[in-house]
Amino acid sequence: MTARILVVDDIEANVRLLQARLSAEYFDVLTATDGQTALAVAAAEQPDLILLDVMMPGLDGFEVCRRLKSGTATRHIPVVLVTALDGREDRITGLEAGADDFLTKPLDDLMLFARVRSLTRLKSAIEELRKREESGRRLGLLEGGASRVRSAGGRVLIVDDQPRQAERIANELSATHRVSIEDNPAKALVAARGAFDLVIVNGASDTFDGLKYLAQARSDAASRSMPILMVVDVHERPRVVKALELGANDILARPIDPQELAARCNTLIRHKRYADSLRHRLDHSLEMAVTDPLTGLHNRRYMAGQLEPLVDNAGKGGASAAVLILDIDHFKTINDTFGHDAGDEVLVEFAVRLATNVRAVDLPCRFGGEEFVVVMPETGVADAEAIADRIRAQVAGTPFMVMDGRESLNVTISIGVAVTAGVGETVEALLKRADAALYEAKQSGRNRVIAHAA
Ligand code: GH3
Ligand code: MG
Ligand code: MG
Repeated sequence: MTARILVVDDIEANVRLLQARLSAEYFDVLTATDGQTALAVAAAEQPDLILLDVMMPGLDGFEVCRRLKSGTATRHIPVVLVTALDGREDRITGLEAGADDFLTKPLDDLMLFARVRSLTRLKSAIEELRKREESGRRLGLLEGGASRVRSAGGRVLIVDDQPRQAERIANELSATHRVSIEDNPAKALVAARGAFDLVIVNGASDTFDGLKYLAQARSDAASRSMPILMVVDVHERPRVVKALELGANDILARPIDPQELAARCNTLIRHKRYADSLRHRLDHSLEMAVTDPLTGLHNRRYMAGQLEPLVDNAGKGGASAAVLILDIDHFKTINDTFGHDAGDEVLVEFAVRLATNVRAVDLPCRFGGEEFVVVMPETGVADAEAIADRIRAQVAGTPFMVMDGRESLNVTISIGVAVTAGVGETVEALLKRADAALYEAKQSGRNRVIAHAA
């Protein structure tokens, strides 16, 4: 994947120079020579990264950055501010304006490409999640947009064998974050797999190898996406480049500037939480989409998706599959006599009995109301009927306790069984035959199993 980079600088010659260097590395380059144009291009073209000059007439880099970070269409695009060499104040203002990183002029190629690669990697990971969220929203599985993410209260792990430096960093951060220190790299590797939002590693220690720690953390799937900020001595250029190559998300130069430390940590934690929240919302909504909230069983939508390939396979001469449709007898009377809540309790208890009386390969689901379905792969009519009768007997044989044990109800169910008929049969046709069998079971007295062989 080649990244698209928007280069913004009011001096045309600077733009051309950067464009040439980035194009030579196969990046796709967009350009703008003023803030307004930059905002328009960013929104319309959705670049993977923006290299933004601070000093511009009209809208300066800070203001452009602020506007990019407050617009929903551009908020997620990483912004690297390009500042003057001694622009410490600028860097802090820039990070506070929401910049993800900065580079100083004159731009050093190694640092430029290392940063660009690390930020575009981060962007593509978040992009992937955003895409999945988009399609989730289109399918109606998600509502609303991602809320704005805060960085306060972040869980930060400091990996450092130099107590004084570690304490200083911890003190700076502990006003806003929850900080732990670990001086043993092996223990810190295990810790980094857990509940932290950011790991700060001393990359300038003589006694432990911060780069090795970084490489190990990145090679472990459980800590691969953990943001890592590496503390380095800037004059150790090869180590800085190596750290970025190995996947450090950011670099902090010694001596440590407290404001820069705070700003960089906040940016990294915000990114992490944004990615986490997207992932979490997605997992949750996907689960909700296939689960019945009352019983926790899978719902009809999920069942249909699972049944379809089984029916197709049987239609091509593969193994037969069976379905049971189960319906509680005179359930309306339970509701009418004991109330809707007691009815719900019966449904929940029934779901438990159903789930515990089918085989592990079978899929029990709530079809809707007081109707349930069990999908049985590779099952013939005799086995399906036997399992159905076991469930029926289990329900009829043991009363249902409801209303905090005050009422004991005798519940029975009727079950229709159908087995795949072979060529050309659809899921609908199979379910229809099971439903016809259920109807027969109801007609012939309830509390019984009727099977329709193919
Ligand atoms: P039959 O033996 O013929 O199946 O009779 P029945 O009373 O069980 O069937 P009917 O379809 O007439 O009534 C089903 C009732 O189930 C009606 C509906 O209000 C109730 N019901 C549907 N969903 C729920 C639910 O989630 N909770 C509760 N408590 N009741 C529900
Ligand atoms: Mg019923
Ligand atoms: Mg019914």
